[in-house]
Amino acid sequence: RTPLNAIIGSTNLLYQDHYLDSQKQMLEILKHSSEHMLELVNDILDYSKLEADKMELANEPYNLQELLHKVVTNFRGPVAAKNLELRTNFDAVNGLVVMGDEMRLHQVLNNLLSNAIKFTSEGYVQLEVKSLMKRSTNITLCFSIEDTGIGIAPEKQHHIFDKFYQTDAETTRKYGGSGLGLAISQYIVQKMGGELKVDSKPGNGSVFSFTLTMTVEATRYSYIEEPVTKFE
Ligand code: ADP
Repeated sequence: RTPLNAIIGSTNLLYQDHYLDSQKQMLEILKHSSEHMLELVNDILDYSKLEADKMELANEPYNLQELLHKVVTNFRGPVAAKNLELRTNFDAVNGLVVMGDEMRLHQVLNNLLSNAIKFTSEGYVQLEVKSLMKRSTNITLCFSIEDTGIGIAPEKQHHIFDKFYQTDAETTRKYGGSGLGLAISQYIVQKMGGELKVDSKPGNGSVFSFTLTMTVEATRYSYIEEPVTKFE
Protein backbone atom coordinates (compact mmCIF):
# COMPACT_ATOMS: atom_id res chain seq x y z
CA ARG A 1 0.00 0.00 0.00
CA THR A 2 2.91 2.40 0.64
CA PRO A 3 3.81 3.05 -3.02
CA LEU A 4 0.14 3.42 -3.93
CA ASN A 5 -0.37 5.96 -1.15
CA ALA A 6 2.63 7.88 -2.50
CA ILE A 7 1.07 7.92 -5.99
CA ILE A 8 -2.29 9.07 -4.61
CA GLY A 9 -0.67 11.74 -2.41
CA SER A 10 1.46 13.12 -5.27
CA THR A 11 -1.52 13.12 -7.63
CA ASN A 12 -3.58 15.09 -5.12
CA LEU A 13 -0.75 17.61 -4.68
CA LEU A 14 -0.45 18.01 -8.46
CA TYR A 15 -4.21 18.42 -8.68
CA GLN A 16 -4.14 21.29 -6.18
CA ASP A 17 -1.18 22.93 -7.93
CA HIS A 18 -0.95 24.76 -11.25
CA TYR A 19 -1.46 22.55 -14.24
CA LEU A 20 -2.26 23.09 -17.89
CA ASP A 21 -5.91 22.86 -18.89
CA SER A 22 -5.00 20.01 -21.21
CA GLN A 23 -3.64 18.02 -18.24
CA LYS A 24 -6.82 18.21 -16.12
CA GLN A 25 -8.48 15.14 -17.62
CA MET A 26 -5.30 13.05 -17.27
CA LEU A 27 -4.92 14.11 -13.63
CA GLU A 28 -8.53 13.09 -12.97
CA ILE A 29 -7.89 9.68 -14.53
CA LEU A 30 -4.72 9.29 -12.47
CA LYS A 31 -6.57 10.24 -9.26
CA HIS A 32 -9.57 8.03 -9.93
CA SER A 33 -7.54 5.02 -11.08
CA SER A 34 -5.02 5.14 -8.25
CA GLU A 35 -7.81 5.38 -5.65
CA HIS A 36 -9.61 2.49 -7.33
CA MET A 37 -6.37 0.48 -7.34
CA LEU A 38 -5.99 1.07 -3.60
CA GLU A 39 -9.54 -0.22 -3.01
CA LEU A 40 -8.75 -3.37 -4.99
CA VAL A 41 -5.46 -3.93 -3.13
CA ASN A 42 -7.26 -3.43 0.21
CA ASP A 43 -9.95 -5.93 -0.82
CA ILE A 44 -7.39 -8.51 -1.93
CA LEU A 45 -5.34 -8.09 1.27
CA ASP A 46 -8.49 -8.48 3.37
CA TYR A 47 -9.56 -11.43 1.30
CA SER A 48 -6.26 -13.23 1.88
CA LYS A 49 -6.73 -12.73 5.64
CA LEU A 50 -10.21 -14.15 5.33
CA GLU A 51 -8.96 -17.20 3.37
CA ALA A 52 -6.43 -17.92 6.10
CA ASP A 53 -9.02 -17.05 8.78
CA LYS A 54 -6.47 -14.60 10.17
CA MET A 55 -8.69 -11.58 10.68
CA GLU A 56 -8.67 -10.56 14.33
CA LEU A 57 -11.45 -8.30 15.55
CA ALA A 58 -10.73 -5.57 18.09
CA ASN A 59 -12.82 -5.30 21.24
CA GLU A 60 -12.61 -1.62 22.15
CA PRO A 61 -15.28 0.85 23.27
CA TYR A 62 -16.57 3.21 20.58
CA ASN A 63 -19.47 5.57 20.11
CA LEU A 64 -21.79 3.89 17.60
CA GLN A 65 -23.76 7.05 16.84
CA GLU A 66 -20.55 8.93 15.96
CA LEU A 67 -19.44 6.08 13.73
CA LEU A 68 -22.75 6.17 11.83
CA HIS A 69 -22.45 9.95 11.39
CA LYS A 70 -18.94 9.51 9.99
CA VAL A 71 -20.08 6.82 7.55
CA VAL A 72 -22.99 8.96 6.33
CA THR A 73 -20.89 12.13 6.02
CA ASN A 74 -18.46 10.38 3.65
CA PHE A 75 -21.32 9.55 1.30
CA ARG A 76 -22.96 12.99 1.10
CA GLY A 77 -20.82 13.98 -1.93
CA PRO A 78 -21.35 10.79 -4.00
CA VAL A 79 -25.10 10.79 -3.21
CA ALA A 80 -25.50 14.44 -4.23
CA ALA A 81 -23.45 13.83 -7.39
CA LYS A 82 -25.99 11.20 -8.47
CA ASN A 83 -28.99 13.31 -7.41
CA LEU A 84 -30.14 10.66 -4.95
CA GLU A 85 -31.76 11.17 -1.58
CA LEU A 86 -29.83 9.97 1.47
CA ARG A 87 -32.18 8.79 4.21
CA THR A 88 -30.98 7.89 7.67
CA ASN A 89 -32.57 6.75 10.86
CA PHE A 90 -30.43 5.74 13.77
CA ASP A 91 -32.08 7.46 16.72
CA ALA A 92 -32.03 4.06 18.45
CA VAL A 93 -28.28 4.43 19.09
CA ASN A 94 -28.19 8.00 20.43
CA GLY A 95 -25.15 8.32 22.71
CA LEU A 96 -24.60 4.58 22.71
CA VAL A 97 -21.07 3.34 23.42
CA VAL A 98 -20.49 -0.31 22.56
CA MET A 99 -17.58 -2.74 22.63
CA GLY A 100 -16.25 -4.09 19.34
CA ASP A 101 -14.30 -3.35 16.18
CA GLU A 102 -15.26 0.10 14.94
CA MET A 103 -13.01 0.00 11.88
CA ARG A 104 -14.45 -3.31 10.62
CA LEU A 105 -18.08 -2.24 11.16
CA HIS A 106 -17.23 0.98 9.29
CA GLN A 107 -15.83 -1.15 6.45
CA VAL A 108 -19.03 -3.26 6.19
CA LEU A 109 -21.32 -0.20 6.20
CA ASN A 110 -19.07 1.54 3.65
CA ASN A 111 -19.20 -1.47 1.37
CA LEU A 112 -22.98 -1.78 1.56
CA LEU A 113 -23.61 1.94 1.12
CA SER A 114 -21.19 2.30 -1.77
CA ASN A 115 -22.88 -0.66 -3.51
CA ALA A 116 -26.31 0.88 -2.84
CA ILE A 117 -25.19 4.15 -4.44
CA LYS A 118 -23.33 2.44 -7.28
CA PHE A 119 -26.35 0.39 -8.35
CA THR A 120 -28.97 3.15 -7.96
CA SER A 121 -29.62 5.84 -10.54
CA GLU A 122 -32.75 7.41 -9.05
CA GLY A 123 -34.64 7.44 -5.77
CA TYR A 124 -32.93 6.99 -2.42
CA VAL A 125 -30.43 5.05 -0.38
CA GLN A 126 -31.19 4.55 3.28
CA LEU A 127 -29.22 3.56 6.36
CA GLU A 128 -31.35 2.50 9.29
CA VAL A 129 -30.45 1.02 12.67
CA LYS A 130 -33.26 -0.33 14.84
CA SER A 131 -33.08 -1.65 18.34
CA LEU A 132 -34.65 -5.12 18.64
CA MET A 133 -33.85 -5.89 22.26
CA LYS A 134 -32.21 -4.05 25.16
CA ARG A 135 -30.75 -5.60 28.28
CA SER A 136 -28.66 -4.01 30.99
CA THR A 137 -25.38 -5.12 29.42
CA ASN A 138 -26.18 -5.63 25.76
CA ILE A 139 -28.32 -4.45 22.91
CA THR A 140 -29.50 -6.25 19.77
CA LEU A 141 -29.51 -4.01 16.72
CA CYS A 142 -30.70 -4.53 13.18
CA PHE A 143 -28.66 -2.61 10.56
CA SER A 144 -30.25 -2.20 7.15
CA ILE A 145 -29.13 -0.52 3.95
CA GLU A 146 -31.86 -0.04 1.40
CA ASP A 147 -31.78 1.30 -2.15
CA THR A 148 -34.15 1.85 -5.05
CA GLY A 149 -31.63 0.62 -7.62
CA ILE A 150 -31.41 -2.14 -10.22
CA GLY A 151 -32.08 -4.98 -7.76
CA ILE A 152 -30.83 -8.57 -8.00
CA ALA A 153 -32.56 -11.54 -9.66
CA PRO A 154 -33.72 -14.22 -7.14
CA GLU A 155 -31.50 -16.96 -8.64
CA LYS A 156 -28.42 -14.74 -8.20
CA GLN A 157 -29.08 -13.60 -4.65
CA HIS A 158 -27.35 -16.45 -2.86
CA HIS A 159 -24.27 -16.16 -5.11
CA ILE A 160 -23.54 -12.51 -4.46
CA PHE A 161 -21.74 -13.36 -1.20
CA ASP A 162 -19.33 -15.64 -3.07
CA LYS A 163 -15.81 -14.37 -3.71
CA PHE A 164 -15.23 -12.64 -7.05
CA TYR A 165 -18.93 -12.95 -7.94
CA GLN A 166 -20.56 -10.19 -9.97
CA THR A 167 -24.06 -10.72 -11.33
CA ASP A 168 -22.92 -10.42 -14.96
CA ALA A 169 -20.13 -9.26 -17.22
CA GLU A 170 -22.13 -6.13 -18.03
CA THR A 171 -22.03 -5.18 -14.31
CA THR A 172 -18.24 -5.46 -14.29
CA ARG A 173 -17.91 -3.36 -17.43
CA LYS A 174 -20.35 -0.70 -16.31
CA TYR A 175 -19.67 -0.47 -12.58
CA GLY A 176 -16.16 -1.90 -12.06
CA GLY A 177 -15.46 -3.47 -8.66
CA SER A 178 -13.77 -6.70 -7.64
CA GLY A 179 -16.68 -8.89 -6.54
CA LEU A 180 -15.00 -9.20 -3.13
CA GLY A 181 -16.83 -6.54 -1.10
CA LEU A 182 -19.81 -8.70 -0.08
CA ALA A 183 -17.69 -11.81 0.61
CA ILE A 184 -15.51 -9.73 2.96
CA SER A 185 -18.54 -8.02 4.55
CA GLN A 186 -20.27 -11.35 5.15
CA TYR A 187 -17.10 -12.74 6.76
CA ILE A 188 -16.80 -9.74 9.10
CA VAL A 189 -20.50 -9.78 10.04
CA GLN A 190 -20.31 -13.53 10.79
CA LYS A 191 -17.19 -12.95 12.93
CA MET A 192 -19.27 -10.38 14.85
CA GLY A 193 -21.97 -13.00 15.40
CA GLY A 194 -24.46 -11.97 12.69
CA GLU A 195 -25.49 -12.95 9.18
CA LEU A 196 -25.66 -10.61 6.21
CA LYS A 197 -28.89 -11.11 4.24
CA VAL A 198 -30.38 -9.66 1.10
CA ASP A 199 -33.95 -9.04 0.05
CA SER A 200 -34.32 -7.73 -3.47
CA LYS A 201 -36.52 -7.55 -6.54
CA PRO A 202 -35.04 -6.79 -9.96
CA GLY A 203 -35.92 -3.21 -10.86
CA ASN A 204 -37.26 -2.51 -7.37
CA GLY A 205 -34.11 -2.09 -5.32
CA SER A 206 -32.43 -4.10 -2.57
CA VAL A 207 -32.25 -4.28 1.20
CA PHE A 208 -29.11 -5.67 2.84
CA SER A 209 -29.45 -6.29 6.57
CA PHE A 210 -27.75 -7.92 9.54
CA THR A 211 -28.45 -8.21 13.24
CA LEU A 212 -25.75 -7.88 15.91
CA THR A 213 -25.88 -8.21 19.67
CA MET A 214 -23.40 -5.73 21.10
CA THR A 215 -22.08 -5.32 24.62
CA VAL A 216 -22.90 -1.87 25.97
CA GLU A 217 -20.07 0.00 27.66
CA ALA A 218 -22.37 1.45 30.33
CA THR A 219 -19.75 3.49 32.17
CA ARG A 220 -18.90 5.33 29.00
CA TYR A 221 -22.29 6.69 27.97
CA SER A 222 -21.60 10.15 26.53
CA TYR A 223 -22.24 12.61 29.30
CA ILE A 224 -21.54 15.71 27.20
CA GLU A 225 -24.72 17.07 25.62
CA GLU A 226 -23.80 17.61 21.99
CA PRO A 227 -26.19 18.94 19.39
CA VAL A 228 -27.30 15.96 17.32
CA THR A 229 -27.53 16.68 13.61
CA LYS A 230 -30.92 15.54 12.40
CA PHE A 231 -31.14 14.12 8.91
CA GLU A 232 -34.36 14.01 7.03
P1 ADP B 1 -18.42 -5.40 -6.36
O1 ADP B 1 -19.39 -4.34 -5.90
O2 ADP B 1 -16.99 -5.03 -6.18
O3 ADP B 1 -18.74 -5.93 -7.72
P2 ADP B 1 -19.57 -6.98 -4.23
O4 ADP B 1 -19.12 -8.27 -3.63
O5 ADP B 1 -19.72 -5.80 -3.33
O6 ADP B 1 -18.58 -6.67 -5.41
O7 ADP B 1 -20.96 -7.24 -4.96
C1 ADP B 1 -21.11 -8.40 -5.77
C2 ADP B 1 -22.19 -8.18 -6.79
O8 ADP B 1 -23.48 -8.14 -6.16
C3 ADP B 1 -22.09 -6.86 -7.55
O9 ADP B 1 -21.17 -6.93 -8.62
C4 ADP B 1 -23.52 -6.67 -8.02
O10 ADP B 1 -23.76 -7.47 -9.17
C5 ADP B 1 -24.34 -7.25 -6.87
N1 ADP B 1 -24.76 -6.18 -5.92
C6 ADP B 1 -24.23 -5.87 -4.74
N2 ADP B 1 -24.90 -4.87 -4.12
C7 ADP B 1 -25.93 -4.55 -4.95
C8 ADP B 1 -27.00 -3.60 -4.87
N3 ADP B 1 -27.16 -2.78 -3.83
N4 ADP B 1 -27.87 -3.57 -5.93
C9 ADP B 1 -27.73 -4.42 -6.98
N5 ADP B 1 -26.74 -5.31 -7.11
C10 ADP B 1 -25.85 -5.40 -6.11
